[in-house]
Amino acid sequence: MNMLRELYTQTIMDHYQRPRNRGALADADLEEHLLNPLCGDEVTVYANFRDGKATEVKFEGRGCSISQASASMMTERLLGKSHGEAEAEIEQFRAMMVGKEDFPETEDLAALKGVIQYPSRVKCATLAWTAFQKGLEQQEV
Ligand code: ZN
Repeated sequence: MNMLRELYTQTIMDHYQRPRNRGALADADLEEHLLNPLCGDEVTVYANFRDGKATEVKFEGRGCSISQASASMMTERLLGKSHGEAEAEIEQFRAMMVGKEDFPETEDLAALKGVIQYPSRVKCATLAWTAFQKGLEQQEV
């Protein structure tokens, strides 16, 4: 169990130190900024869609390792997804963060499951996902 926890921590630190898809997208189809006042985390998510699929998903932000690592993982997860698929992914992730769903341990996202032991940090983990959800809701399809 300790080894598993260590592995999870490594996954989070890896995404934090080498964030995937970090950067802004000018004139993105989707752009949403969100703040987590509990922790001081900030994230802006961006996406472009073509033929109904997310062809680019990026983020900018600053804050704790959990919030930034989660945003990095989210961009990888949502790339290539349609609106509906992205919503389903977000729903599944939120379900995991309230202990109702699991991801296979081989997936990076599973590393964030440990966060539910620290309820005050759950908002850190869900920040980027909530931002993306809001962005989707504001898009006209
Ligand atoms: Zn945080």
